[in-house]
Amino acid sequence: MHSALPTLNSALQTVAYIVAGILFILSLRGLSSQETARRGNRYGIIGMAAAVVATTLCADKVAYAPLLGALVVGAAIGAFMAARVAMTAMPELVALLHSFVGAAAVIVGYASYLDPAGHAGSRTVLLIEIFVDVFIGALTFTGSVIAFGKLRGSISGKPILLPARHMLNLALVVGSVVFGVMYVQAPEATGLVPLLVMTGLSGILGVHLVVAIGGADMPVVVSMLNSYSGWTASAAGFMLSNDLLIVVGALVGSSGAILSYIMCRAMNRSIWNVIFGGFGAAPPAGAPKPAAPVGDVKEVTLDETAEALKNAKEVVFVPGYGMAVARAQHAVQQISEILRKQGTNVRFAIHPVAGRLPGHMNVLLAEAAVPYDIVLEMDEINADFPRTDVVMVVGANDIVNPGAQTDASSPIYGMPVLEVWKAKQVVILKRSRGAGYAGVDNPLFYESNSAMLLGDAKKTMDSLLGKLRGE
Ligand code: NDP
Repeated sequence: MHSALPTLNSALQTVAYIVAGILFILSLRGLSSQETARRGNRYGIIGMAAAVVATTLCADKVAYAPLLGALVVGAAIGAFMAARVAMTAMPELVALLHSFVGAAAVIVGYASYLDPAGHAGSRTVLLIEIFVDVFIGALTFTGSVIAFGKLRGSISGKPILLPARHMLNLALVVGSVVFGVMYVQAPEATGLVPLLVMTGLSGILGVHLVVAIGGADMPVVVSMLNSYSGWTASAAGFMLSNDLLIVVGALVGSSGAILSYIMCRAMNRSIWNVIFGGFGAAPPAGAPKPAAPVGDVKEVTLDETAEALKNAKEVVFVPGYGMAVARAQHAVQQISEILRKQGTNVRFAIHPVAGRLPGHMNVLLAEAAVPYDIVLEMDEINADFPRTDVVMVVGANDIVNPGAQTDASSPIYGMPVLEVWKAKQVVILKRSRGAGYAGVDNPLFYESNSAMLLGDAKKTMDSLLGKLRGE
């Protein structure tokens, strides 16, 4: 009976891990569309709970008291942060959580190095696994902390480009490998010093890679860091001989890499440029000087906007980061319903990097119960702007900047944008004439068919709603 217990334990653990692995795959699949996202989230939660319980109960030696204490405290902090976080601060939170994965990987790596007793198999293989785990972990940690600062606005969104930055990156990678070899060859635990040096170099690499990225390319960086956090977890899985960690890490790593690739394609960027930094920065060599925008910025009143909407047959709303800040999505939805009831064809145009998180606008519109079939992606709607009567740009800026097509000196040059200026009339809701996240002026504001409806988007939308209801 006694001797059968470990076998039973390991069989139960294997079953639990397979179930958890399947739930994680179903979770990712569910998260790929808005209709199934909630279900996907639930699968993920159940899978993670199964994984934690199976790992804890089936382990040989477990100090339950500190483990439970850490679980309770960690879960309480996580729940508190998630419940309190504003939707606009979500990207920062995601970046911060990636940094935790990196930090955890580094700590587990050091623990495995200092106490390798529980690890079966070749010592060299274990040391290499620790190297990979610590290298990616340290890079993910520092890179995510910088991304957190940039998204929060505590660090400037402007790229910091050191001279010979590619050589510096290369030197840091080569240096890490050299110290990695020294650490692998060192007897017993005497490789700690080269391991520490390697960790430092990798940490500097993480900082340098992310500070060199310009504001508009941050979405790709966040998703790349997500991918790195997956690979670091996978490396930790090899190190700890934990199959589930290997599988989950690979799922996160590869889905993050695929998302980064898709976002790069949507933004017309080369993924290598984003990975190796220095994008969204200086104008390309030989680019002409930017033409100063000509003309005046016109303003439009609430009454004029309400009138234009009442008379329009085709209306497109373009939500952006400002809508999230103002929490104007419910008012926008109510206005769209009134217009739909009067027979207007109303649609929403979503740019792949609108807001500060992939899918940011889709989530807000879903929360406000905007029907999915009138929410269109950029490629689906761009050709329809010439026959659109009124475009309402709600707190968006960079994603509707025509300079991305015409101004080769612009940091966002080449990024596909929503071609709203082709519509008959464009109303831009924002609080000032200020620039968007990329920090560049927007020639759209000076177009003859566009006008600004200045003010907080929520207040403006509420007033507009009142006008349309005839209050
Ligand atoms: P932008 O940041 O370019 O513009 C948002 C505009 O909203 C600002 O110009 C601001 O103007 C206005 N605004 C802010 N608060 C309010 C308010 N309360 N009421 C009305 N307007 C308001 O956002 P976009 O969505 O157009 O573009 C997203 C940018 O963020 C891109 O550059 C993208 O690359 C980047 N990014 C995207 C991420 C993603 O994953 N989606 C992640 C990280 C960065 P004003 O201050 O005058 O009101």
